[in-house]
Amino acid sequence: MKIGVLALQGSVKEHVEALKKCEVDVVLVKLPHDLDEINGLIIPGGESTTIGKLMKEYGLDKAIKFRYEQGMPIYGTCAGAILLAKEIVGSKQIKLGLMDISVKRNEYGRQVDSFEAELNIFDKPFRGIFIRAPVISGVHDGCKILSEFEGNPVFIEQKGRLLASTFHPELTKDLRVHKYFVDMVEKSRTMDLEKFILM
Ligand code: GLN
Repeated sequence: MKIGVLALQGSVKEHVEALKKCEVDVVLVKLPHDLDEINGLIIPGGESTTIGKLMKEYGLDKAIKFRYEQGMPIYGTCAGAILLAKEIVGSKQIKLGLMDISVKRNEYGRQVDSFEAELNIFDKPFRGIFIRAPVISGVHDGCKILSEFEGNPVFIEQKGRLLASTFHPELTKDLRVHKYFVDMVEKSRTMDLEKFILM
């Protein structure tokens, strides 16, 4: 099984390392044809406007959406979660717009730019690292909240095909979030597409 990491900008290396520890093959995705050989994709944190612009420039936006429609799972971290959202409040920036969530960029910024907090992930503590993180301000039909912090969702799954976190698990040694995504990708390979569309 191969998982791609969108390698245009941001915390690419850290996701590659985490995936390798999960014992999957990793592909750096820089151009549309890199998507041909992967079963799942991680969009890392970074600057969502920059990643969005580069994605469009290289034709990756359309190619990623096409692969998603064929059933490829995608996990977005922080800026990656912003790019997945159907609504980015107050911004017309380029996005994929696949996930039924609304996000507000840099919404923790007024108090403090970056912080760490203890989260509860899969019934165990998890060190959440938030770096100029967005707030998920709306979660719509079909999305499951996997974790919250101070009343806001920070970890969400949709249809067994999309995963988003506003924190950075790739900056910790805890592999549970990556393993969860690897599992999603594994399951997606055995589920037929018709069932996915009807979900
Ligand atoms: N603040 C960034 C943005 O809005 C996201 C930061 C991150 O990915 N750590 O794009």
